[in-house]
Amino acid sequence: MDKFVGYRCSLCGQEYAPGEITYTCPKDGGNLDVVLDYAAIKQQFPSMEMFLGSTVEPSLWRYLPLIPVTDPGGEGTTLRAAGNTPVYSPPVLKKQLGMENLWIKDESRNPTASFKDRASSVVVARARQIGAEVVVTASTGNAGAALAGMAAAVNHKAIIFAPRTAPPAKIAQLLIFGARVLLVDGSYDDAFDLTIQASQEFGWYCRNTGYNPFTVEGKKTAGFEIWEFWTRLSPNPRHQVFGKPLSVFVSVGDGNIISGIHKGFKDLVELGWMQEMPRIFGIQAEGSAAIANAYFAGVDHITPVAAKTLADSISVDLPRDGVRAVRAATQTNGAYITVSDQEILSGIAALGKVGIFAEPAGSTSYAGLVKALDQKLIEPTDPVLVVNTGSGLKDVRAAMQAVVEAPVIEPTLEALKKIL
Ligand SMILES: *Cc1c(COP(=O)(O)O)cnc(C)c1O
Ligand SMILES: [Zn+2]
Repeated sequence: MDKFVGYRCSLCGQEYAPGEITYTCPKDGGNLDVVLDYAAIKQQFPSMEMFLGSTVEPSLWRYLPLIPVTDPGGEGTTLRAAGNTPVYSPPVLKKQLGMENLWIKDESRNPTASFKDRASSVVVARARQIGAEVVVTASTGNAGAALAGMAAAVNHKAIIFAPRTAPPAKIAQLLIFGARVLLVDGSYDDAFDLTIQASQEFGWYCRNTGYNPFTVEGKKTAGFEIWEFWTRLSPNPRHQVFGKPLSVFVSVGDGNIISGIHKGFKDLVELGWMQEMPRIFGIQAEGSAAIANAYFAGVDHITPVAAKTLADSISVDLPRDGVRAVRAATQTNGAYITVSDQEILSGIAALGKVGIFAEPAGSTSYAGLVKALDQKLIEPTDPVLVVNTGSGLKDVRAAMQAVVEAPVIEPTLEALKKIL
């Protein structure tokens, strides 16, 4: 059975067959949603319990019947290790925030240490299926590292365009994974446009976020995992666990992660496996808030900004998945929230104190939760899951801004006593 039946444009609704198109809607440039044969999937798995009961693989590939590739291959490699990230519920944070039901889903535990592995794992599998020899992407760092890592896992060629200002650890990852790396003397948006031109000129398969429809198909697996986690909290997944829907907090740059999580939830609704849509909250940096601006203005089109934030992974002038990202909040009774760089740094410090090391874009979601409580957008009794999207090891320069530097002392007890 091939469950992948085509695409539907998120703007005009036009449908396309799987082989008819590769990236965006030719009419209006809209992002394409992958359409699955939900009836066939349901016939095979009448309930979510039956579906989950049939899968054992400890990665996002446990959801293969819901992912539009046939066989990912790559057994025994990191391609098969993306996803299945842990969820924590740190008592210290709950006490600090006065919350009872708070969870952190830690995406820094992916093979290349960010959420992006979900997308790259699926895109590389797709590239192999359609016989695309070279995969290329523009990246602020993490998408590239994820593509480079997943491609290396199965000996596939990857080319990465990143801004030359990307944090050194991310550039090191690209190089270590053996990708062809080109540092662009310009912004992420410049790298994005160049990548599309290059893929057209040279026939490379382009992974670009908010351009290639398969990234969302990888990222949606986080939505599946969140739902699986949530339903397992209750002996009867048909019932609300706390009398309230789950609220999910996620940071937003291009808007592809939030759209992906929303797509995962929508797939589950289509399959009849989800009765109550979680609320989705998108958090942007104040200095890079094109999507939040559209949400606040109540409009469906995105006006670019001149992005400036220390959270490099969400520093985007023109978000490429903005329309779907606005809808992820409006269609789920969620909201958008913006936070300052200072609040993002405080978020790094707060998460660090419970043993979670987040990069700035990772702690942005937590900073958003603090603000949402403050502004009474949610109540302390609401069940909330915050997604940490990336590891603090990716950007230690930013991390050092969140802490007081350690003192240097002479190696004597006297010196030690003085400082204690
Ligand atoms: C890419 C990224 C984001 C934002 O995802 P978008 O799809 O661009 O909205 C957030 N955090 C981290 C760590 C990322 O790498
Ligand atoms: Zn269209």
